[in-house]
Amino acid sequence: MSQAKQPIEWACEVCGKKFGIGEWTCADGQSNHVVKEKTYRCLDAPLDPGKPAEGSTAPVIRGRTVVCNIPPAKKVMEGGEVKLVGEGSVEFINGAYSTKDPEIQYWLDKKPSYQATQEQWDQMWKTAEERLAQKEHELRAAEQRLENERNELLAQVKQQKKQPA
Ligand SMILES: [Zn+2]
Repeated sequence: MSQAKQPIEWACEVCGKKFGIGEWTCADGQSNHVVKEKTYRCLDAPLDPGKPAEGSTAPVIRGRTVVCNIPPAKKVMEGGEVKLVGEGSVEFINGAYSTKDPEIQYWLDKKPSYQATQEQWDQMWKTAEERLAQKEHELRAAEQRLENERNELLAQVKQQKKQPA
C-alpha cells in the first residue's frame, strides 16, 4: 500500500480558520480544530467469533486494535527539564477508525498499514460478517421448521381428540 497524499493545510469546521501542520489547537485554546471526517482501515484478521452462546447473537465487535503513539508525545520544558507529554492512542474497532481530528489524521496518514480501501476492508471483514449473518439465517429457518412441525403435530393431536373413538 502506498502512503496517502497528505494535506498541508486544513480548514476548521468550528472556527473557520485555515491552519497548517502542527497548528492543531482551535479557538478555545484547548481542543483541536475539527475537519472533515476521515476513515482509516486496517486489514487485521477478524477475531474468531467462535460459537455464540445459546440464545445470544454473534458479537458486534470482532476485533480491536490499539495504535499507540497517535499523536506522538511532544517535548515540553517543565521546571528546566524536558518532558514528553500528550502521547495518544487510537482504537480501531473491526479494523476501522474514523476521526475529525486533524492531528490524528496527520499521524495516521503517515502509516501505510492503515490506508486500506473500502474494497480491501470489505474482503477482510464483510465476508466474515456475511458468513455469520448467513449462519444466523439458517438457524432461524431451522427453528421455524421445527416450530411448524410441532404445530402440525399439535393440530393432528387435537384433531384426533375431537373425533369420537
Ligand atoms: Zn478551529
